[in-house]
Amino acid sequence: TRQAETHGFQTEVKQLLHLMIHSLYSNKEIFLRELVSNASDAADKLRFKALSDSSLLADDAELAVRVSVDKDANTITISDNGIGMTREEVMTNLGTIAKSGTADFFSQLSGDQAKDSRLIGQFGVGFYSSFIVADSVTVRTRAAGADKGVEWSSRGEGEYDLREIDKAKRGTDIILHVREDANEYLDEFRLKSIITKYSDHLSIPVQMPKRDDDGKQDGWEAVNSGQALWTREKADISDEDYKEFYKTIAHDFDDPLLWSHNKVEGTSEYTSLLYIPKRAPWDLWNRDTQHGIKLYVKRVFIMDDAKQLMPTYLRFVRGLMDSADLPLNVSREILQDNKITRSMRNSSTKKILSMLSKLAKDDAEKYQEFWNTFGAVLKEGPAEDHANQELIAGLLRFASTHEDTSEAKVSLDAYLERMSDKQDKIYYIVADSYEAARDNPALEIFRKKGIEVLLLSERIDEWLMSHLTDYKEKPFQSVTRGDLDLGDLEDEDTKKQHEEAEKAFETQLERFEKALGDKVKSVRVTHRLTDSPACIVTDDNDMSTQMAKLMEAAGQ
Ligand code: ADP
Ligand code: MG
Repeated sequence: TRQAETHGFQTEVKQLLHLMIHSLYSNKEIFLRELVSNASDAADKLRFKALSDSSLLADDAELAVRVSVDKDANTITISDNGIGMTREEVMTNLGTIAKSGTADFFSQLSGDQAKDSRLIGQFGVGFYSSFIVADSVTVRTRAAGADKGVEWSSRGEGEYDLREIDKAKRGTDIILHVREDANEYLDEFRLKSIITKYSDHLSIPVQMPKRDDDGKQDGWEAVNSGQALWTREKADISDEDYKEFYKTIAHDFDDPLLWSHNKVEGTSEYTSLLYIPKRAPWDLWNRDTQHGIKLYVKRVFIMDDAKQLMPTYLRFVRGLMDSADLPLNVSREILQDNKITRSMRNSSTKKILSMLSKLAKDDAEKYQEFWNTFGAVLKEGPAEDHANQELIAGLLRFASTHEDTSEAKVSLDAYLERMSDKQDKIYYIVADSYEAARDNPALEIFRKKGIEVLLLSERIDEWLMSHLTDYKEKPFQSVTRGDLDLGDLEDEDTKKQHEEAEKAFETQLERFEKALGDKVKSVRVTHRLTDSPACIVTDDNDMSTQMAKLMEAAGQ
């Protein structure tokens, strides 16, 4: 045998291994889901590559995953004849964490077991989850087209050994030496039930030894149904099926909040299966990572993270689209400017928005849960997606003077409904905090007149309101902007009083303006205050004070 070389794991891998072993012990079985899904990915990748080089499939074209147990040796083996890995790939994939946002992920860990285990789940436990059940792992792999293989082995402690091997067939064998406290998994029935639970939908056959009546192995048999879930008839798919599938593709331990499965025919033909999660992924705030849509073409997996298929403000949506029209050799560049992609994106966007509208109508409480989790992301919508502005606006929720809580619960429709016939604008204020909005003196006159004002205080709100001009033909009006004209809401007497007051103060105003000089644009009499003596407002066309603060913070 050839000499083995020892390599150290990247620090983050050591950390992840440690965390995983200590926080996922109640979720041990997921190791099999991860390893089988890697084997299936490897088959997908090979199939894709073979589209341009059919010699890669060679004489071994029946792609399958095989799972077996050796009770005497205390091992479970997961084998595939997929794409395999080169030595370099082994070192990157099984020795480092190459994902973007890794540092961010580690910084979010709290030490709280339940929270952390969910976070780790979402981050993607992947291959390293082997060590939840194994005290040592051996990987034997040969890349498609290569003639030598590589063996990687590790006890999951700080390092791994690497050596060159002869391997008869292309693909990868993962051999788990099972820990004593996990020997329940050395059982074919148990493994079979885990495979049907998590991997039934995989289009690749997952095989286990076929047993005759005496328990002797008689070849192999597939234990999954082998039909991609989304290609089945909706009527034949149970809620349980949809939920398990979600957990597999979204790496979530929780059930999804909602899903929608659509077969679209017509100008473009595709199937989509879209999920809205219950909880925010750990990197929701990173606009660059984690677009959760996988792209398939005629059931062949093409790519993860197909950004072109879902707008950024819906980046929390998980799922897949399977196109019948796109070419199999589609690239990210082709996707960028493509009629078919655009149409899939537009109709899926509409689908998600209408799914959310329906939820808001049917189950306000569940919708509120959604809003509290993803509302701030949805608020990016009006700026990004003009075509759907009104639909998105209908989904927004705000705190308001009508409620006594900082929780954003008021919809624009509810606001419009409460509005008097004479009111022709939607009034709002943006401030640094809910309290600052609520206690702003500019609201005094509105309170007095019983006019509802929306109270906005999230970072994104100024941006949002600079893109939302009106809703159902009612314009938005900031109460801290310009010359507030309550128009028809004022009666004749008050109007007259106002005019008189303005006249009476003319000389004082001039003195104020002189004294303040360049610091102000102008000083005028206001009728919007009832208790406070003065307030600062911005001109209708100028940057608001909030926006000015944001720009300043951004170094502009
Ligand atoms: P992920 O699947 O999310 O990329 P994993 O930790 O599960 O993360 O796997 C890391 C990488 O190792 C995979 O992206 C793949 O490149 C490689 N890999 C793992 N298992 C296999 C396999 N059976 N065949 C080929 N490559 C594999
Ligand atoms: Mg994986």
